Amino acid sequence: MPITMKSCSCQSTACSSHAEPAGVVQSQFNKPPGGNSLDISIKSFDCADCAQKLEQALTKIPGIVSVKVNFISESAHIIYDNGLVKPAEIITFIQKLGYQAMLVEANAAGSNHNHPKTVFSGDTLKIVIIGLMWGIMLGLELLELLPSAVILINIIIISFGGYPIAKRGIGNLRNRIIDTNLLMLIAITGAIAIGEWSEAATVVFLSGIGNYLQEYTLGKTRQSIRSLMELTPPYARVLRNGQELRLPVEDITIGEVILVKPGEMVPLDGRVQCGSSAVNQASITGESIPVDKQTGDDVYAGTMNMQGVLEVVVTKFAQDTTAAKIIKLIEQAQNKKATAELIVDKFARFYTPIVISLAICLVVVPTVVFQQSFVSWFYRALVLLVISCPCALVISTPVSIISAIGNASRQGILIKGGEYIEQLGKVENIAFDKTGTLTMGRLKVVRVECTGNLSEQQILNIAATVEKYSEHPIAQAIVTEEAATDLVPAVNFIALPGQGASADIDDETIYVGNKRLFCGLGHNLEQYETIWREIELNGETYVLVGTNNILYGIICLADVVNSSGKQVIAELKRYGIAPLMLTGDNEYAAKTVAKAVNIENYYSDLMPENKADIIARLRNQGKVVAMVGDGVNDAPALAEATVGIAMGATGSDTALETADVALMTNDLGKISYAVKLSRNTVSIIKQNIWIAVGLKVIFIIGTVIGVTNLWLAVFADVGASIIVTVNGMRLLAAKKI
Ligand code: ADP
Ligand code: MG
Repeated sequence: MPITMKSCSCQSTACSSHAEPAGVVQSQFNKPPGGNSLDISIKSFDCADCAQKLEQALTKIPGIVSVKVNFISESAHIIYDNGLVKPAEIITFIQKLGYQAMLVEANAAGSNHNHPKTVFSGDTLKIVIIGLMWGIMLGLELLELLPSAVILINIIIISFGGYPIAKRGIGNLRNRIIDTNLLMLIAITGAIAIGEWSEAATVVFLSGIGNYLQEYTLGKTRQSIRSLMELTPPYARVLRNGQELRLPVEDITIGEVILVKPGEMVPLDGRVQCGSSAVNQASITGESIPVDKQTGDDVYAGTMNMQGVLEVVVTKFAQDTTAAKIIKLIEQAQNKKATAELIVDKFARFYTPIVISLAICLVVVPTVVFQQSFVSWFYRALVLLVISCPCALVISTPVSIISAIGNASRQGILIKGGEYIEQLGKVENIAFDKTGTLTMGRLKVVRVECTGNLSEQQILNIAATVEKYSEHPIAQAIVTEEAATDLVPAVNFIALPGQGASADIDDETIYVGNKRLFCGLGHNLEQYETIWREIELNGETYVLVGTNNILYGIICLADVVNSSGKQVIAELKRYGIAPLMLTGDNEYAAKTVAKAVNIENYYSDLMPENKADIIARLRNQGKVVAMVGDGVNDAPALAEATVGIAMGATGSDTALETADVALMTNDLGKISYAVKLSRNTVSIIKQNIWIAVGLKVIFIIGTVIGVTNLWLAVFADVGASIIVTVNGMRLLAAKKI
């Protein structure tokens, strides 16, 4: 079929415009059990703590079933009862607390990415003005000039910069929630009360600049993660009635034909109908070497067509493409809190009231009991209030986890939540499936042994007739071998997981499967001793073909060991992780592969549930176990493992959805990468927690003995947040660790 090349003036816009990524769909107003759901994008959080407080405040609204506020993605996912509360009321409630809130529209592709790229423009001006005034004030004060002007400038700084602080602090207080803003407000008012106008203005200015810097660094993290999500182009060239039309991807349905020209991104998932080209799939698989695509091959939205023109039949709607699924999963992953995060959140709840009580004691005890100077101890109490915000601590874990998830997805590793990073960082055993994981799963028939009166060709033919309906790699190998021959129709196909398959041909049930299956049927297999010896010697995979009482023959197959296997196993061993191999295949085939990749510990002839049992046994010994598998029959073992890792998940919905970690390619190297990244993440989280807690402890001691002041306290408070944010962001930047 010829491909019509029409001149198109908009080609460059089609491939360079990333402004409206397609396929990003937020679930909204769809009814999960328990109510309606709603996504809101929220801006101008100035402290991680604020997100937590907002979550608390929202939970108190009658009719709200559950709330998840995400500080990093600046969004809230709310499940609510439409009879009791309306979305508009929720939005107004959030706005009253001093945040900008906006409904994320259903189906508006990429609407959650519509945040302005420069979040800071208005704020920048404000901070510059306050900064200038603060500088002038400081100069005048040092030179002891114009004392009344100094007071005036201070009043302007305090009212101008302090207004948003007061608004939020008081707003939250109305909901009986004490937040950082309120504490800042008390500190500022307190400083004014004891005549420390310049100190009050300095607290306002420094907290403003601190929040600004923190917002800036976080903005960078958010942007890097968002840029990952902006994978797919918003428009596609579709062929309708012989004409080439440029339409939004949402308007194109399954079965339509789209054209992808050289240098363009593939706009939708589909199958190549005509043409050939190399396609760079790095955005999905992390593999930077382009993959050759020809008629019949699958292509994915968001990948880059390098040189040829491809005519592609669309196989998925814009909102169902692999890229859209990845985006959705990354978003969901951000909302799943890691264990460390949950512990920190709990601690943060106690931390603030404890520090406030300490502050009160600091005023009351020395002044009342020991008749010390009120002003000096009141000042120290104010300093304590400033550092009572647990922001740095609250943000320490999520910023690291999200950076790690972002980094991993760029490498084609999809991690479904923080807890899996934590677990992968601690993993002690990794179990591998054999076929399709340690081997390529591209088996080839090497020979056929005849044991009845059918010829090799006939045996292959009936085996292929049965296997036509199976998805097992063995089945595919047999069907491929027989591709040239016409197959007779078979009925009543039954898959026998871990054993084989059967189907009826001419009213006779034909079985294709392993020894276990045929022993179960009552065959005596010992008479074929020479055949078994040969198979044993070669370490081949084999299947038997026959009826319930006749064995027609044995098909022997060979597989190719995954080239990255040996190196990855060696690397994992170096990390102190014990690898093991679990397979449903025979002992000798298992031994051959295990030897090739240097795994000493392997189990063969397993049924899918036996694989799960072995994992369960290890877990019962208290081990953290990961399982790497590919196929559907590995599902029980993947579910049983602490972390289930699915290989080659591109295009396979089950693998993408059921595993905890999904690898987009069959590159085993991604496993050691994920382990390394997770270990790094865990250690950065630890560092961050130490930094956050350590600084607070130093300051609390320093304040009680009277060597700190309000300035330093604000500096330490926001400084710590910035340090942990930047430290966490290192994970996003790291390419090869
Ligand atoms: P693995 O653990 O190596 O992935 P499976 O659990 O998928 O293996 O299968 C175990 C064994 O069961 C295979 O080695 C094969 O002997 C047999 N088997 C499973 N499915 C089929 C099938 N469709 N056709 C033939 N044999 C099969
Ligand atoms: Mg398998």
